Amino acid sequence: MNQTYDVLIVGGGPAGVAAAYLCHKSGLSYLLIESGKGVFQGIANTYPEGKNVYPSKPKEAPEPFLVEELRPPDKPVAVEKYIQYVQHFVQHENLNVQVETQFEDIKDARDHLVVQTSRGTVKARKVALAFGSSIPKELSVYGDAKMVAKTVEDPKKYVGVRALVIGGGNSAADVIISILKAKREANDNQPVYWAHISEKFDVNKETAQRLGEEILLGGNIRLLPGAIPRIGEVDDEGVDRLIIRTSEVRQPDGIEIYSSMNFPMKNVIACIGSQGPLPIFDKIGVQTIACAEGVCQVAKEGDRLILLTAEFESTRRGVYVIGGAISPSYMRISGGSIQEQRHPNLIYTAINDAAHVVEAVRKKLAK
Ligand SMILES: Cc1cc2nc3c(=O)[nH]c(=O)nc-3n(C[C@H](O)[C@H](O)[C@H](O)COP(=O)(O)OP(=O)(O)OC[C@H]3O[C@@H](n4cnc5c(N)ncnc54)[C@H](O)[C@@H]3O)c2cc1C
Repeated sequence: MNQTYDVLIVGGGPAGVAAAYLCHKSGLSYLLIESGKGVFQGIANTYPEGKNVYPSKPKEAPEPFLVEELRPPDKPVAVEKYIQYVQHFVQHENLNVQVETQFEDIKDARDHLVVQTSRGTVKARKVALAFGSSIPKELSVYGDAKMVAKTVEDPKKYVGVRALVIGGGNSAADVIISILKAKREANDNQPVYWAHISEKFDVNKETAQRLGEEILLGGNIRLLPGAIPRIGEVDDEGVDRLIIRTSEVRQPDGIEIYSSMNFPMKNVIACIGSQGPLPIFDKIGVQTIACAEGVCQVAKEGDRLILLTAEFESTRRGVYVIGGAISPSYMRISGGSIQEQRHPNLIYTAINDAAHVVEAVRKKLAK
């Protein structure tokens, strides 16, 4: 293992990019890891095409945007343009970004933290978690299914192979439509299998229409309702494969008869929705507090909120959490008391959190 960074930043959205830029400017060594293909992948995945981006700022917020360079323009631009601008900015500033790298866990070492990622471990004195509010769910199977994609960057990748798409909603249907279209344009008749754990698929009318159109144009799609992903394993040739059970009959004598299919994981896309960051907070052992009746204004009774200092440091020393990951509210420890703090999920809040954390880290590391 090589260098120990001052800061490891997880997530290349507005919060992460702002943190990286400010570390860069203040002479802190840093690395930003992003699970997607490029910075702002979260925004690219969640905004509808052509959506305008607004430099919204909560009315009561006293501060201006603390990183003017990343502020969306006053005259709103389409999201594609804003993303393009930020990508150029990251390149121009030569920020230290490693894409297609997923955060997995944090371990303590004597005087630093060891962050486990999908590409190995990274050592850092401080960690800023900026992974946003919507984390794609992992397939839970016996064995490992990390190689399964969660979205499709390039549908042409699935031309010439039998692809498996898992999930019963609109995002799975959208992925299927894009793959069917790529196959149609390449005259490839290999099927796309569409598996869903329940017997019923659930897509909206507009998506169903687009899907129907692709099928009428020759799209080869095989439905697998009630199919359950079971096992991730490596075959004799070293290929990671996913076994999915497609039917199951339990006999009175206790014997189970089932059939299953087996796909190379690189041909599988799991669109099984997203979840908030709580499971990650639990995994890395940062403390959260459940809202008691009448205590919280934003969160509901029973919601668990992360506990942070005024400088966004969690109960795990050296681990900071910023941006959408702590929205719409968190519990702030200050002056010996704990209070719910509103935290609107906006580019403004994400960028300004980053500025406060980098400033705090700079002081702590005396840079
Ligand atoms: C449809 C829509 C429209 C919006 N419009 C506006 C607007 O006009 N103006 C405004 O101010 N706000 C808007 N918002 C909100 C704004 O986009 C968010 O507040 C902002 O993106 C939060 O920034 P972030 O950096 O915290 O998280 P994100 O932007 O979500 O970035 C997190 C990044 O972390 C990456 N990541 C996730 N998990 C991991 C992992 N395990 N390892 C490594 N990387 C990981 C993701 O790929 C992502 O790129 C909108 C939101 C939506 C959904």
